Amino acid sequence: MISSWTAMSIVLFFFALISSAAIQSSESKYIAYNTTHRIVPEKLNVHLVPHSHDDVGWLKTVDQYYVGANNSIRGACVQNVLDSVISALLDDKNRKFIYVEMAFFQRWWRQQSETMRVKVKELVDSGQLEFINGGMCMHDEATPHYIDLIDQTTLGHQFIKDEFDKVPRVGWQIDPFGHSAVQAYLLGAELGFDSLFFARIDYQDRAKRLNEMSLEIVWQGSKSLGSSSQIFAGIFPRHYDPPDGFTFEINDVSPPIQDDVLLFDYNVQERVDAFVAAAFAQANVTRTNHIMWTMGTDFRYQYANSWFRQMDKFIHYVNEDGRVNALYSTPSIYTEAKHVANEKWPRKTDDFFPYADHPNAYWTGYFTSRPALKGYVRMMSAYYLAARQLEFFKGRSNFGPNTDALADALAVAQHHDAVSGTEREHVAADYAKRLYMGYAETEKLVSSSLAFLAESRSSSRQGNPVANFQQCPLLNISYCPPSEALLLDEKSMVVVVYNPLGWRREEVIRIPVSSEKVFVHDSDGRDIESQLLPLSNATLSLRNYYVKAYTGKSTNGALKYWLAFSASVSPLGFSTYVVSSAKQTGPSSTISMVYTSEGSTDNTIEVGQGSLKLLYSVDEGKLTHYVNSRNQVTALAEQSYSYYFGNDGTDKDPQASGAYVFRPNGTFLIKPDQVPLTIFRGPVLDEVHQQISPWISQITRVFKGKEHAEVEFSIGPIPVDDGIGKEITTQIRTTMKTNKTFYTDSNGRDFIKRVRDFRTDWDLQVNQPVAGNYFPINLGIYVQDSSMEFSVLVDRSVGGTSLVDGQIELMLHRRLLHDDSRGVGEALNETICVLDKCEGLTIQGKFYLRIDHIGEGAKWRRTVGQEIYSPLLLAFTEQDGNNWINSHVTSFSAIDPSYALPNNIAVITLQELENGKVLLRLAHLYEIGEDKDYSMMGSVEMKKLFPNRKINKVTEMSLSANQERAEMENKRLVWKVEGPAEEPKVVRGGPVDPVELVVELAPMEIRTFFIDFDYLKMYGS
Ligand SMILES: [Zn+2]
Repeated sequence: MISSWTAMSIVLFFFALISSAAIQSSESKYIAYNTTHRIVPEKLNVHLVPHSHDDVGWLKTVDQYYVGANNSIRGACVQNVLDSVISALLDDKNRKFIYVEMAFFQRWWRQQSETMRVKVKELVDSGQLEFINGGMCMHDEATPHYIDLIDQTTLGHQFIKDEFDKVPRVGWQIDPFGHSAVQAYLLGAELGFDSLFFARIDYQDRAKRLNEMSLEIVWQGSKSLGSSSQIFAGIFPRHYDPPDGFTFEINDVSPPIQDDVLLFDYNVQERVDAFVAAAFAQANVTRTNHIMWTMGTDFRYQYANSWFRQMDKFIHYVNEDGRVNALYSTPSIYTEAKHVANEKWPRKTDDFFPYADHPNAYWTGYFTSRPALKGYVRMMSAYYLAARQLEFFKGRSNFGPNTDALADALAVAQHHDAVSGTEREHVAADYAKRLYMGYAETEKLVSSSLAFLAESRSSSRQGNPVANFQQCPLLNISYCPPSEALLLDEKSMVVVVYNPLGWRREEVIRIPVSSEKVFVHDSDGRDIESQLLPLSNATLSLRNYYVKAYTGKSTNGALKYWLAFSASVSPLGFSTYVVSSAKQTGPSSTISMVYTSEGSTDNTIEVGQGSLKLLYSVDEGKLTHYVNSRNQVTALAEQSYSYYFGNDGTDKDPQASGAYVFRPNGTFLIKPDQVPLTIFRGPVLDEVHQQISPWISQITRVFKGKEHAEVEFSIGPIPVDDGIGKEITTQIRTTMKTNKTFYTDSNGRDFIKRVRDFRTDWDLQVNQPVAGNYFPINLGIYVQDSSMEFSVLVDRSVGGTSLVDGQIELMLHRRLLHDDSRGVGEALNETICVLDKCEGLTIQGKFYLRIDHIGEGAKWRRTVGQEIYSPLLLAFTEQDGNNWINSHVTSFSAIDPSYALPNNIAVITLQELENGKVLLRLAHLYEIGEDKDYSMMGSVEMKKLFPNRKINKVTEMSLSANQERAEMENKRLVWKVEGPAEEPKVVRGGPVDPVELVVELAPMEIRTFFIDFDYLKMYGS
């Protein structure tokens, strides 16, 4: 195919010489450029795709980028882009432009006149302006949770649907730093996208694909859903900018076409030749006679005419020349052309992690960068999920507080320079501020919804609920004013515990209290066993410092204990517990027994009151064994902390470790000083307190009723006075023979097999044996051998690996002193300040670990993983005597009391939209073959999910709910794949019978519905 192009081009070249001579002889005058060209089947078609890559926050905040403020950092103004692009499109109806980031477009749209809106709608209807991707931002693919990806995309797609009645057909993830399986099948195929385009893959992978012409592929990201969720994916040959010499922002250096014969430097033929040469070069690495030129890059088109003028001329003269066909195009037109070509494409499975753009530049640092922001995003994500449920139970109000601000804040926080941690410090603060403002409004909604539900049987109710609930967003740093208040004689504290999951939960709740004379009872007056655990000095000093930093307030000094008790809560419901001050006689909370290993004669100490025991060596002050007496799982287990020295970029290859790149320069094992273990024991849980170093402490909890250990770490301030940045990791070692293999999740969903120093798609040259084996973790990581599997789950996005058989390593915190030269221009050196005094940021977080017999680990990973993502929500109020309990609804479940969701299915969205529609999303939590009991078709009875409402109609929608599922499936393009076609038959749930209203879900299936209710009956009324 290529050789015939070359032959033809020689002929055409002579023709071109003659025709250009003809042009030169003409007068200088107005030239009407012919830009009407469409695809010419027998020629090489160069699809010019005008685009601007507009980061929803990076060096500047989202609003600064929009209005063009703070231009000393970067001259970027998205308002200029949109204003000038629209005007350039109106000038010539053949011009096209794609727009991607709805967070920006929405800001612009709000400010437009009705006249302008009409014009823009016409541009959209005619296809001149096309929305692609269409989420609020171009989300990161390593560090967000899939529920957040769905939510942020839905928000953008609903906007496009409401304002323009359009459905985006193309994924455009051109900048994210590696690409996830979940992006391909879930945020691609399941949205109804026909194709997905991106730029960043490993440089070794790219070299091989260029060589084999396999940059364009059919990607099957899910082994459970296989070809039913495949997508055509195109990787750009180099990056998302145009070929060299074809960039036309006003300060760019590419030579413009000079076609005025009266001016010097007439260069039409020269530029046409350069265009044709660049086109053939790309055709040499591309299948079919269609290539795409991404005409734009970051924040381009601030003066759009500068680009369009040149593209008009190129299209005109290149087509006059005739060797290739150049046209204004979009990725949708390009995709359609690829589809019509009827080619077979290479198959791709799994994902594109990790990403390296250079032998010493593995972009695996950002998996952990800014762990506090990552933790906050995750916490807010869960809160948003629960709040939407409560908002629905109460009935959405467009006047009172709602979840919209939190939705917006969470959406922009998924941007590839937001939760990824690769933005500047002031921009990270802006994301956190938006999240906090969204939280503050949502908190009011949650309180009033809980009050509404709790008061719904009160005869004195006058419409608006009166109960005054408080919540504790700083509970993670042991700060909770309502629970810390000293309980006076007759007063007691009422704790309402809401469970956003579809199954019943028994879990230990921990709240800080100021008195040791307390007891807990449930709403029926039954005593609940409880335990008091003293706050460690490390916890108290962290609390005092951070409360001051976050709220400006000093903490009350009376806080003494964590009060722990077990709560049992119905699915999508709440329970109520009462904490009262204890009398001289009568029940009282048990104060933990303290055991310190100092001076002990026993060398081994056993921790845990239930089936799970952790054994510690007293001599060495460390974990030695894991024993589960119920299922007889016993393993040697050890844990340590280490750090990597961040490379400062001063050796031969000046690549530093930074916000994006992890480039270690040696490692250091932190040997605990001979500090004894302190152990607290009691009826509810045991805790092991360890001070690992002056700046690392850890509490390991073993709950009586649970068979996993919870590890809470506090790391920081990381010392850097030696001038060396440090990246802090923990290692948990077993003696399992795991054969270089481990498994990590894709955005909290499918698990992907990883093999140390190995890639499925090419022969890996190992340059960075540590950084090159790091993968993103959102849910967990596990290893297995022939008899056991060992799993670790996380509470936020982190980087992780298994560098040695039997071992799992997590990177928990990073503090670095050099920029890694990928654009952010700032060292990742997070600090926190009280008044004028600043210190390195301390991170507190949790991970969870468990060892199972082989084949039994998935149940824990999936069930507890969902519980970690969606923690119980606590709200507090106060009562005198028993008046509150006696006059309120104290236990509630939104679903039929005899019903619970099966263990393999979760409600991931239950939300009343602004237009009154109710959106329900159900997710199967298991992959095919993952678990012998749960990797089966599951079903949900909608009638039992909504027992108090009459369901009128159920409509199955695409993942972002912008089109009916059936319509989406009808439009789906079918792609041919190279190689054997056999795959296990893909299973999906059947259609929902309108009378039975039972939804089936096959492994890894997510199904999205709009539900019309006959009338909205109030709960309990
Ligand atoms: Zn970007």
